[in-house]
Amino acid sequence: MEIQNPGSGGREQLLAACGDCFGLCCVALPFARSADFAADKPAGKPCGNLQADFRCGIHARLRDEGYQGCTVFDCFGAGQKVSQVTFGGTDWRAAPQSAGTMFAVFPVMRQLHELLWYVDEALRLAAARTVHRDLRRAYDRIDALTRRSAEEVLALDVNALRGEVNELLLRASELARARIPGRKRNHRGADLMGARLAGADLRGASLRGALLVAADLSGADLRGADLIGADLRDADLSGADLTDGLFVTQAQLNAARGTASTRLPAGLERPGHW
Ligand code: SF4
Repeated sequence: MEIQNPGSGGREQLLAACGDCFGLCCVALPFARSADFAADKPAGKPCGNLQADFRCGIHARLRDEGYQGCTVFDCFGAGQKVSQVTFGGTDWRAAPQSAGTMFAVFPVMRQLHELLWYVDEALRLAAARTVHRDLRRAYDRIDALTRRSAEEVLALDVNALRGEVNELLLRASELARARIPGRKRNHRGADLMGARLAGADLRGASLRGALLVAADLSGADLRGADLIGADLRDADLSGADLTDGLFVTQAQLNAARGTASTRLPAGLERPGHW
């Protein structure tokens, strides 16, 4: 994958910087006792493991303590944007009157930052250069929206924006995958839960939004496959090749299983539990 002209805001602003965030994912979002969380927590209530400095008290042993769900969440940098930009560095403990608004803005901001991440990914695809101008325009527009006031962010129609951007991402994906020789499989939105796809040739396939929970993808060839929004929870990626995979996120990898022999897209890290 060749880096062309990634988003002007830089990849850095799309990486979670927990030290600059007021623990928003640990307060604003709800979770329910399940295989992913050891306890129930309603939206707006701080998690019992959140410390006074907005750090997680069990960060190093989340999986062991039953909080696997926390390890597969990525705010794409929305936490620090809301904390430091939208609310100017004043936290919800110091200003409890603005806590409700801050917690409402966070999930919206996360969606905007996720879109920025995908657009930035598409801008790194040399094969998609014919749509780079439109992508860059989209990036700058969304980036500007993330810097609006809390009230303006809450008034956004994010679904409509997502629809517009998705058209561009789809085009970029088609252009990138067209370079891959051979027949490309189309599993867009498919229910492949638990599917046996060991060793499958999925080069350049569309797996957009596919449900791949617990699927056996061991040894599968996923080079250049589009995995945007695919649910890879507990999928077996042992020995799979995801080189040049499109729109793969760190959270997707964290949710899956893999080994030292799994080949990853550039810029992503091998999860610690593999
Ligand atoms: S367990 Fe830690 S990371 Fe998960 S919500 Fe609680 S404080 Fe946050």
